[in-house]
Amino acid sequence: MRIIRYQNDGEEPKYGWMLENKVGEIQGNIFGEYRRREARTPVTELKLLPPCEPSKIVCVGRNYVEHAKELGNEIPKTPLLFFKPPSAIIANGESVHLPPQSAQVEHEAELVAVIGQRAKNVTAESTKDYLFGYTIGNDITARDLQKSDGQWTRAKGFDTFCPFGPWIDTDFDASDAVVTCRINGQMRQMASTRDMLFNVATLIAYISSIMTLEPGDLIFTGTPAGVGALRPGDLVDVEIEGLGKLSNPVK
Ligand code: ZN
Repeated sequence: MRIIRYQNDGEEPKYGWMLENKVGEIQGNIFGEYRRREARTPVTELKLLPPCEPSKIVCVGRNYVEHAKELGNEIPKTPLLFFKPPSAIIANGESVHLPPQSAQVEHEAELVAVIGQRAKNVTAESTKDYLFGYTIGNDITARDLQKSDGQWTRAKGFDTFCPFGPWIDTDFDASDAVVTCRINGQMRQMASTRDMLFNVATLIAYISSIMTLEPGDLIFTGTPAGVGALRPGDLVDVEIEGLGKLSNPVK
């Protein structure tokens, strides 16, 4: 099932489910008890919001060998973690703003896992019970500041640096899906999720041994090789085979 969040004129945001191009309201808690209403509103009539509201966004660095190498980095022995702040979130279609502090802002196409149930010290074998589904993310990064700061908080944390969506797919099989990034239609990144150093189950188990994961929390699972600069006026499309496409213009 594909789950979205949306807003009608002046109304409170709602969750919905998609049947082809129609949307039905979801009443209740999408991570618990809920009821689905009939899908009859065309999705084009709704303003789509980011598909959930995470309490935290945990990201994994250098999780594809070729990407670690292209930036001249060692391959990590354990998952390399960092955060993005929820204030950086934007929806599909909203603009990424290039901040004046950076001269080198780059795209990072990523598969994103969404947590469905509170997880603390869970085993890799049991992570299916804690995973809600998958969505698409772009871990926008000020590469020059990442290098000069050492700590990545500033480089990864600017407002608009966390596009994700347009929906969460609760049935998606992420074991071997092609992740691509195109700038103005030109291919920049392409790899299969099979090439990840640490798979999603391993990541959830590892992260949950450090911090409690809450329903709606996001895990950005790392980016393939081919990262590159964004310019004003660019359109950046992150697509995951079978999952969908996340598009954001750059300002
Ligand atoms: Zn990343």
